Amino acid sequence: MSAVAQEPAVVLDRIHKQFGDLVVVRDVSLTVARGEVVAIIGPSGSGKSTLLRCINLLERADSGRVEVVGRAVEPGAGVAGRDLAALRRSVGMVFQSFNLFPHMTVLRNVSLPQERVLGRSRAEADARSRQLLERVGLAAKADTYPSRCSGGQQQRVAIARALALDPEVMLFDEPTSALDPELGLEVLAVMRELAADGMTMVVVTHEIHFAADVADRVVVMADGAVLEEGTPEQVLRSPSTERARRFLSAVV
Ligand code: ADP
Ligand code: MG
Repeated sequence: MSAVAQEPAVVLDRIHKQFGDLVVVRDVSLTVARGEVVAIIGPSGSGKSTLLRCINLLERADSGRVEVVGRAVEPGAGVAGRDLAALRRSVGMVFQSFNLFPHMTVLRNVSLPQERVLGRSRAEADARSRQLLERVGLAAKADTYPSRCSGGQQQRVAIARALALDPEVMLFDEPTSALDPELGLEVLAVMRELAADGMTMVVVTHEIHFAADVADRVVVMADGAVLEEGTPEQVLRSPSTERARRFLSAVV
């Protein structure tokens, strides 16, 4: 393999983040290989979202190093303008709330960012959008408005919108938490396919079954730190810490 192929997709090296006196992420290191799916689980308030947001610099770590597909961000370095845009563009993110533009059709929601961010023509962007909507099972919804879509459909549109910028890494922050279980399943099915297609994914989730089936690695966070890390088998079946055991027995 070439050096580039071996280079990890994401490196978090001793990330520290606090809000005022509240330490939210303590010295967390995590490396995600290309094509790897990492699930992050743990109690509410343990710093999962903050850690995820440090990857695409929605939050700036106080110290530590972030590297995404070889682009490094040093602590305190003024990453701005083109570098920041390039790093953000290589990382797609899907949130718990879908955040679609209500006054635009599904197709336009997926096309507009491609025009704005990648400078694609309308025709090019629409063609790519239709492909992606097909892929998430929503080709028939292209010309409707988000309000006419179920929550599960809206979240799948949000996934298509993120994929439309050709990211190298996809981050998911509890993408099914706002959905009824049935609708959550259709979103998880799309994520499963994405993983099978080789997308690098970091997924914060309460869906232990999804983590067990799809993740290559499971990370358990508590109080801003990594409590356990290993294969789903190791972590979910035989956690080594009492704290992780308690958390898992509460959610499984
Ligand atoms: P999780 O995703 O595991 O529930 P979060 O990363 O959202 O945890 O939050 C961890 C802690 O950081 C919580 O106590 C939360 O209230 C706090 N927090 C998160 N974002 C901010 C912020 N922007 N300002 C102040 N406190 C925050
Ligand atoms: Mg969260």
